[in-house]
Amino acid sequence: MQTQSTNTIDTSVTQFKHKINSGLTKKRITVLQINLGRRCNLACTHCHVEASPKRTEELAPEICEQLISLIHRFPEIKIVDLTGGAPEMNYGFKPLIEAAKLTGKQVIVRSNLTIYFENGFGHLPEYFAKHQLRIVASLPCYLSDNVDRMRGTGVFDSSIKALQWLNQLGYGKEPNLILDLVFNPQLPTERKFSLAPEQSDLEQNYKKFLKEHFNIVFNNLFTITNLPVGRTKMHLERRKLYTSYLQFLESHFNPSTIEHLMCRDELSIDYLGNVYDCDFNQMMNLPAKTSNGETLTVAKLLEAGSLDLISEVQTAAYCYGCTAGCGSSCSGALL
Ligand code: SF4
Ligand code: SF4
Repeated sequence: MQTQSTNTIDTSVTQFKHKINSGLTKKRITVLQINLGRRCNLACTHCHVEASPKRTEELAPEICEQLISLIHRFPEIKIVDLTGGAPEMNYGFKPLIEAAKLTGKQVIVRSNLTIYFENGFGHLPEYFAKHQLRIVASLPCYLSDNVDRMRGTGVFDSSIKALQWLNQLGYGKEPNLILDLVFNPQLPTERKFSLAPEQSDLEQNYKKFLKEHFNIVFNNLFTITNLPVGRTKMHLERRKLYTSYLQFLESHFNPSTIEHLMCRDELSIDYLGNVYDCDFNQMMNLPAKTSNGETLTVAKLLEAGSLDLISEVQTAAYCYGCTAGCGSSCSGALL
């Protein structure tokens, strides 16, 4: 069930569409990001999906079958990016991976690391290494207190154990076993906002700290701006910071980011098979549309025999989060 209203226009910030003077055109689709559901073993304070162990929404078997057909049918899909919730908790996780690997695509799994210590999931690190999946793992800080405050008590220690385990399997060391970490800034509690620190500088700090203290290595650090969506939006609204945060993001608008926005060449699919331009639009129930104004589903893409049916990306005020400063995407800074 969607819990957010659609794209409410906030009149105190410039409409994003006006800011960029035109629509945001879609490029040829090369990335398929699939959100397998809202179930997760954690319930992080910054989660834009509002995932938790109590959520039950998940990919239906017939949608999983359609997605497998899509993966087989379109060689132009180069990357299959699996997210959630904890995508590992869905039964469709492995069939989707195996279809994507069979067709030569890169598979990204957005993993919270702690899932490997839950009953029935201890085999995952070996499975990931066997299929050479690229792991993108959230570690919002390299200091234990900050991580536990955002993600729950004990999450930092479990994450460290998981990273050491992945390193033992060759992750972060061998060329086909890529391990990336994700940094999210702490959520603001007062009218004092900041963007993520410069990505390459922070990556060096992370690498130094994790190597020295835990003998952990990894490939890349992605800094991701907190978009005012999901729990982040609720957090800001509770503290009456929502509008001022949007204004802060708008004041850092950087037009050079537009060319690189992730929504330009990806399709984001929800557990019901509906198509969006990105995961944030998915959470805000703002579906992708064709030039005729029709919404899309995976079934319609299969029927049309094309992935390129969207000419313009649907945008909203939270797009200022992706375009502030050096920009932000699921693969970190854009510039
Ligand atoms: S941020 Fe990730 S790990 Fe945390 S609750 Fe959301 S989906 Fe789960
Ligand atoms: S939220 Fe970001 S990725 Fe999504 S449509 Fe807006 S700019 Fe694009």
